[in-house]
Amino acid sequence: MNRQQEFVLRTIEERDIRFVRLWFTDVLGTLKSVAVAPAELEGAFAEGIGFDGSSIDGLARVYEADMLLRPDASTFQVLPWRGENPGTARMFADILLPDGTPSLADPRDVLRRSLTKAADLGFTFYTHPEIEFYLFEQDLDHGRPVPVDSAGFFDHVPHGTGHHFRRAAITMLENMGISVEFSHHEGGPGQNEIDLRYADALSMADNIQTFKAVIKEVALEQGIFASFMPKPMAGQPGSGMHTHLSLFEGDTNAFHEPGSPYQLSRTGRQFVAGLLHHAPEFTAITNQFVNSYKRIWGGSEAPAHICWGHNNRSAMIRIPMYKPDKGQSTRIEVRTLDAACNPYLAYAVMLGAGLKGIEQGMELPPEAEDDVWTLTERERRAMGIRPLPASLDEAIRTMEESDFVAEVLGEHVFDFVLRNKHNEWAAYRDQVTEFEIKQDLRRL
Ligand code: GLU
Ligand code: MG
Ligand code: MG
Repeated sequence: MNRQQEFVLRTIEERDIRFVRLWFTDVLGTLKSVAVAPAELEGAFAEGIGFDGSSIDGLARVYEADMLLRPDASTFQVLPWRGENPGTARMFADILLPDGTPSLADPRDVLRRSLTKAADLGFTFYTHPEIEFYLFEQDLDHGRPVPVDSAGFFDHVPHGTGHHFRRAAITMLENMGISVEFSHHEGGPGQNEIDLRYADALSMADNIQTFKAVIKEVALEQGIFASFMPKPMAGQPGSGMHTHLSLFEGDTNAFHEPGSPYQLSRTGRQFVAGLLHHAPEFTAITNQFVNSYKRIWGGSEAPAHICWGHNNRSAMIRIPMYKPDKGQSTRIEVRTLDAACNPYLAYAVMLGAGLKGIEQGMELPPEAEDDVWTLTERERRAMGIRPLPASLDEAIRTMEESDFVAEVLGEHVFDFVLRNKHNEWAAYRDQVTEFEIKQDLRRL
């Protein structure tokens, strides 16, 4: 046993923890949990704990039904929302096959493979998400969500539900070792944003899973509910998960180069070029639901086109304003993602695309200086600016042709996602919407 594992066992005893939840994530990004008794942990650290993965989305072919979970001791946390005695703690776990090798269907392993590739090139990958979500009343209005307030961007709402909620949620996150940098009311009624302090990508993907569980838990405690649905209400802004990315070489920010435009180094420019080049292929991963495409097509500060700009909020990638005293903080902001993605897979494909840009020495196309929403389709075409996939259908068809995405995800996850998303699209196609009924039933 290593020191971290010993620390976990000691803490469990000292704090009278009787249940340890092992958390893992299915291919679609849903958090899964299995509770084990503390007495089982020593064995779990050594060789994993058996579980039946056959009914978990994307996890197993039938013959792989028996799998193992091996807890990652570095992720041990006592759960603050089960503060009662005896206490409960959790660890993220890796999914292994019975012979002890990583399961190719474990999203954590998919990301780890991408991170290993970055490490071979000398890079560590850091991310920092801005997570948006809505708070709604428990009771719906004829099936429609009712926001908890009618405030807007950065509004201070005296005694507001959102304010109260953010305080409780941030306190709980900090108790779990997740640092919050910034939080505010977002543009939509009941919409909030919480930004996490940057961390290495694997810890951050774990943090996002924890974050979503905490937000849901705190909302329920307060008698409301939280939703990360990308576009829950027509005519109101969607919820994105803009994500800041940077690569470090040791202690040095590899994206930083004093004197170059926006202080963005050659490595940084090539990374952005790789992201732009592969964007249509990986959008089905960063924006994985039918509903995701209702957010990224028509404004409300969500991108719809594949281009980059300096402080340009209409671009898919924004290079944030450079602060002269903060060379180490040079980074790029990808604005496509929504929080309904599987963060492990989304980080794996974005890192993979950026690394391709570096390996192949890709050239960064010219910067988009205008608000790209106000340009005509022809103007955009003349500038070489392509639209993002317009629907889940288009996104999966594009992904299907991508050797790059197949390579990053591995064939198993690649095939599962495509199959699952084709089914989602087929189910959606089968619907007759309120829009059609209103528009056509009497008219036609
Ligand atoms: N809600 C917007 C989106 O869906 C982003 C607003 C902002 O710039 O923070 O991307
Ligand atoms: Mg925002
Ligand atoms: Mg942002």
